[in-house]
Amino acid sequence: RKINIAIDGYSSCGKSTLAKGIAKALGYAYIDSGAMYRAVTLYAIRNGLSNNDEIDESGLETELDNITVDFTNSNGMNMTRLNGEIVENEIRNMEVSALVSQVSRIKKVREKLRLMQQDASRFGGVVMDGRDIGSAVLPFAELKIFMTANKDIRAMRRFEELAEKGETITLEEIRANLEKRDLLDTTRKENPLVQVPDALLLDNTKMTEKEQLNQALDWAKELIFE
Ligand code: C5P
Repeated sequence: RKINIAIDGYSSCGKSTLAKGIAKALGYAYIDSGAMYRAVTLYAIRNGLSNNDEIDESGLETELDNITVDFTNSNGMNMTRLNGEIVENEIRNMEVSALVSQVSRIKKVREKLRLMQQDASRFGGVVMDGRDIGSAVLPFAELKIFMTANKDIRAMRRFEELAEKGETITLEEIRANLEKRDLLDTTRKENPLVQVPDALLLDNTKMTEKEQLNQALDWAKELIFE
């Protein structure tokens, strides 16, 4: 049988690396819910709905019907699209990272994206990562994983990832961004990040990518073949 797999956790824990690995191994679809929040944030920035690190929340709410976010595949890579345009690179920059947790606390934004995420998973065979997947988007997912890792390790991993892409940013700035997002994501009113009771905990501080993938695949296969 085909199951749905929900992966939640703090910022830069390696959720997308694990989710992509599982999807590839099982032949499932991967959905990056964070990319959808990032795309809406990019729309806000481009359309003058942000100013001095503040999002114009009601302005963005009235624009929601003009925003379409979806994914396309290019050379085997998952690409996020905003109103038909591939924005995969832009949505990862620091300007978006600095504002995305403000955008993601807006109730109407969450509702819109949640419905799209649920629609994409209705036939099963989906691996989705985010903050509220096990709690709100896919509460009936057969497998739920909650990821965590030491904060210094997370900041270092993100630093190396961005440095590889040529972004000039300090480790301190990254650390501050992760801390800010974790705080906003865990304390917001609408579907905050929580470890639901039926999620399996995966702390990858001392794990290699291969080790964490094997662990998750063991869990998944037990359910698929049960
Ligand atoms: O996963 P990623 O770090 O790219 O997500 C960016 C931001 O989007 C998170 O910090 C969070 O504010 C928001 N988000 C969310 N719910 C999700 C996925 C992401 O609120 N399911």
